[in-house]
Amino acid sequence: MTSVHIRSAVQTLPAYVPGARSTGEDVAKLSSNELPYPPQQSVLAALTDAAGGVNRYPEMTGDALVEALARRYSVTPAQVVVGNGSVALIQHILDAVCDEGDDVVLPWRSFEAYPICIAVAGARAVKVPLTADGRHDVPAMIDAITPRTRALLACTPNNPTGPALTSAELAALVEGVPERVLVVVDEAYLDFVTDPEVGDALTLLEEHPNLLVSRTFSKAHALAGLRVGYLVGESGIISAIRSVATPFGVNLPAQAAAIAALEPEALAKTARRAAAVATERDRVLAGLREQGWQLPDAEGNFYWLAVGEQTAALAEHLRAAGILARPFAGEGVRISVGTPAENDRVLAATAAWRAR
Ligand code: PMP
Repeated sequence: MTSVHIRSAVQTLPAYVPGARSTGEDVAKLSSNELPYPPQQSVLAALTDAAGGVNRYPEMTGDALVEALARRYSVTPAQVVVGNGSVALIQHILDAVCDEGDDVVLPWRSFEAYPICIAVAGARAVKVPLTADGRHDVPAMIDAITPRTRALLACTPNNPTGPALTSAELAALVEGVPERVLVVVDEAYLDFVTDPEVGDALTLLEEHPNLLVSRTFSKAHALAGLRVGYLVGESGIISAIRSVATPFGVNLPAQAAAIAALEPEALAKTARRAAAVATERDRVLAGLREQGWQLPDAEGNFYWLAVGEQTAALAEHLRAAGILARPFAGEGVRISVGTPAENDRVLAATAAWRAR
């Protein structure tokens, strides 16, 4: 037992529960919203080439990657920061803007790392319940802002429930928040969106200097294991985040791979794969609804079965059918879109569950 002082906020942190890892048997690993396909050949080649150079440090702030991202989004490099996955960047954001006891408004249920990052930053999570159909309650989020609010988080599409913010909702959110409050819009799953009503916060950046958009290479780019995320926003905020970020936070092979993933051909293939995942998602959703399940909209690469008290039993039923899903105790089960064969396996298992 250590007598070293551990901050009380750290002692009481909820544990981050990652999706179950595959045990190597014949299981469909649908627990972490990963892409069911391997990284692209050109990206793997860049990774291998870079690996021979790891006796050297990478560029400290990933300048070449930052420049490639800035070109992609027609912003300046001073408006982009890269980090060790978007989770690390969310932590850096809150470390940069929160003093002890400040408030951070967030939708709930949403990505479970948010309350942990908020607590680590010494701030207080003000959780605003989602609507009954799993959407952000935008007016309630705006109402939850107090003089102590430093940041407001939004997640679109929302993990784990699935719906995404429409352009109108995004605009209402950003316009309803006072300029002194930072708005962070987490678009980790935006590549999978097919509903034309859904908005992209990047389009609002010019008008709103208190807005930060978070994206990642972990999902549509199929690079979850490399850990690369990035933020786009106003240069003063980006500079503050750089100053709290871990130096050399994105490793050398990861920088090389992410740059390769931004080449036009790689981007086109990523878009095609994301579209194929979205088509599969819609097929599974239609199948589940036909089986009688009530599901919220799904705009990411996952869908949400809000089975409440039956969560553990459903997760176990899926496990027995060779499917690793992600249970959220007492709330529901989130299932990632897999390959067509994996998705068929889900549909067979959910049909069997309903026929019990
Ligand atoms: N944001 C959301 C909404 C997520 O669901 C996840 C991953 N589960 C992340 C961010 C984390 O992404 P990264 O791998 O870039 O840390």
